[in-house]
Amino acid sequence: MSKKSEELQAYLKEISLYDHVVELLYWDMETSVPKLGQAAHVEAMTKFSTDSFTMSTSEKMGALLDALAEPEEYEALDDMWKFIVTRMKRDYDKNKRIPVELYEAFTRERAESGNAWREAKNASDFAMFAPHLKKMIERTREITAYTDPGKEVYDALLDQYEEGMDSASIDKLFEELKAELVPLVDKILEAQSRREDAQEDALFRKTFDVNGQRAVQDMLLEYIGFRRDAGCVGETEHPFTLNFNSKDVRISNHYHEDEPISAMFSAIHEGGHGIFEQNVNPDYDNTAAGSCSYMGIHESQSRFYENILGRRRSFWTPIYDRLGELLPEFKEIPFDAFYRRINRVKNSLIRTEADEVTYCFHIILRYEMEKAIFRDHVAVEDLPALWNQKMQEYLHITPQNDAEGILQDMHWSDGSFGYFPSYLLGSIYDGMYLETVEEELGSVDRLLEEGRIGEITKWLNTHIHQYGSTRTPKEVLAAVCGREVSAKPLMRYFTEKYTEIYDL
Ligand code: ZN
Repeated sequence: MSKKSEELQAYLKEISLYDHVVELLYWDMETSVPKLGQAAHVEAMTKFSTDSFTMSTSEKMGALLDALAEPEEYEALDDMWKFIVTRMKRDYDKNKRIPVELYEAFTRERAESGNAWREAKNASDFAMFAPHLKKMIERTREITAYTDPGKEVYDALLDQYEEGMDSASIDKLFEELKAELVPLVDKILEAQSRREDAQEDALFRKTFDVNGQRAVQDMLLEYIGFRRDAGCVGETEHPFTLNFNSKDVRISNHYHEDEPISAMFSAIHEGGHGIFEQNVNPDYDNTAAGSCSYMGIHESQSRFYENILGRRRSFWTPIYDRLGELLPEFKEIPFDAFYRRINRVKNSLIRTEADEVTYCFHIILRYEMEKAIFRDHVAVEDLPALWNQKMQEYLHITPQNDAEGILQDMHWSDGSFGYFPSYLLGSIYDGMYLETVEEELGSVDRLLEEGRIGEITKWLNTHIHQYGSTRTPKEVLAAVCGREVSAKPLMRYFTEKYTEIYDL
């Protein structure tokens, strides 16, 4: 290690301590801060986050990166540090242009906006949130003008969450999907309406003990390979994953007494994110190489566990009896009824509770809303009506209030515009991984039935997780599947699976 790279390492360590505090404050804000304590938390978060930003964009950082980018220094670096220096230099040049005052104002306003969104959602009143949303949109435009001058705003945002993706590529993929998905869903829904299931519905209409649900969650996390010595589970309104580094990955869950399946699948989903982060090469911890910064790739892992594996009969075969032991209400639910329940396709209002098929429409709707905001400059006041119109168009239902409509997701409250497409990109990648896994390991159903889920997790660790951020999404797909992104494998998976379930 040269003197310069040692210096960079020490500086990164110092910055990571500030980030650690910011993350801890964020975790606390989501899991336990009382209402009256929020303001002081926001103040502390703004301070430590701005300090970290100031150090990351300081003259000292610039000089270190410049020195290490010089050919002689650069060539002496190992591959990991080559990646870190190149990536950091790119981000430094972008972020350096953002005025610190703007960053500070945005950080504070974003935290306030998050709190306002929570209150607005509880009151189901979009008007309470509208001024904050307006602010988030304005700030996002302002910041993007500094980080990506000359680039179309929404394309810049998409690229931030999934490097290499722009709206032209996403339009193409989503159109490809829609062309086959719309008629397939029509067919499924018709079959669903013919299916008599009043008796089956009654099996799920009871109260499911929350402690039992927690025990099921713990069993599921262990089953899929989420490590408890490097991770923990908190309780929040909306499940999410937060990672400090590969040795401390936190996920959260929410339990509904009348809907136990929700917490099970949230656990599998967030557990999938968690397994990813726990298995990134630990040498990358707290550097630009560590953690995975591509959200489509990240969602592809959570959704692989949640949908591709978790909604399969074979996933539950080895553990269904355990479910009844931990949550006795399940003793009365036949395995087949459970399997049908977790794959029941139905047009519904809430994205996070949607089945894996109609879920695609929830994302396409949000993607179109974001294009309407950033391209067509649709006024914030007009967004709820546009939302409801698109719900009608894609899902043929209209929300009765804002809480089950436009206020349901937190993403826009913290300025995460451009994130939503990642979920569907993740599923599209999953279709591709599934084909590759089966080519290399054989039938996934056989592996699962034989209790060999660990082999699938190991495959994902080796081919995807360990690399963290060092491979871009396009590089991941090229390395893992050997081809370019396509929605066809996902469509094949949907068609085969639901043709069987619904006897289409
Ligand atoms: Zn996720």
